[in-house]
Amino acid sequence: MSARSDKVSSQSLSHEYRLIRSRRRTLALVVTSDGELQVRAPMRATQEQIRQMLAKHDGWIRRKKAEQASRRPAPVTFAEGETFPVNGQWLPLQFGNTGRATVVARDDALIVARRLHASPEKIESALLLFYKKTTLERMNAHVSELRRQTGLHVSKVGVTMARRRWGSCSSRSSLNFSYRLAMVPDFVQRYLAVHEMAHLRHPNHSPAFWAQVAEWMSEFRLAEKWLKNEGARLPL
Ligand SMILES: [Zn+2]
Repeated sequence: MSARSDKVSSQSLSHEYRLIRSRRRTLALVVTSDGELQVRAPMRATQEQIRQMLAKHDGWIRRKKAEQASRRPAPVTFAEGETFPVNGQWLPLQFGNTGRATVVARDDALIVARRLHASPEKIESALLLFYKKTTLERMNAHVSELRRQTGLHVSKVGVTMARRRWGSCSSRSSLNFSYRLAMVPDFVQRYLAVHEMAHLRHPNHSPAFWAQVAEWMSEFRLAEKWLKNEGARLPL
C-alpha cells in the first residue's frame, strides 16, 4: 500500500506520526488500533500542508488515541481469577486438575493444570495451544455445516497464529482462521466461516460477495460490529 513510510515527529504539536505517501489525492489521518497516528498523503503533499492538517485535527487525534487506548486489552498476568474469553464468555482462570490436557474449559471457569501455576510462560503457551485446538474444532464444525448447505468444496481448514487477520481463503480453496476465533461468540465464528466460504465464489469484497454473505447469514452485520467493538479487547 505504501510507497514510502517513515516516522516523523511534528515540531509544533506533540504528535508523532508515520507518514505514508502514495498515489492518493487527499490527505487523511488514521489512528490505528495500536494508537499509532498515520498521515496518508499524496506524493506531493508538503510538510506545511501536513502540519496544518495535524493542527486542524488536534482534538480529533487526541480523542481517537484515548479511545483506542481504552480498547486495548489490559496486560495479562495469568493470575488465578483473571478472565479469558472462550466462545464469547469470559471465564476466570483456575488452577486445578485437568487430566491429560493442560487447559480445560468448563461452564464457569477455565482450568489450567496446577503444575503450571508458577510459570506464566507455560500458562501462556498452554492457553495458546488450547485456543488453537478449540478454534480448529469450532471452525471445522461451522465449515462442515456450510459445506452441506452450499455444496462448496473446501480442501482444508487450518488455524494460524495471526492476531489481526481473522481469516483467509486461498486460491486452492483452503480456509485459514486465527487461533483467536475460539475467544469469540458462536455467531461471530459462524460469520467468519461464511465470510471465507463466500470468498470461494467471489475472491473480492464486491457487492456480489456481500450479497452471498447476506444470503447465508442475514444478521452478519452484528458479527462485523462485534469484531469492530470487541475484537481489540481480546487478550493474547
Ligand atoms: Zn474478506
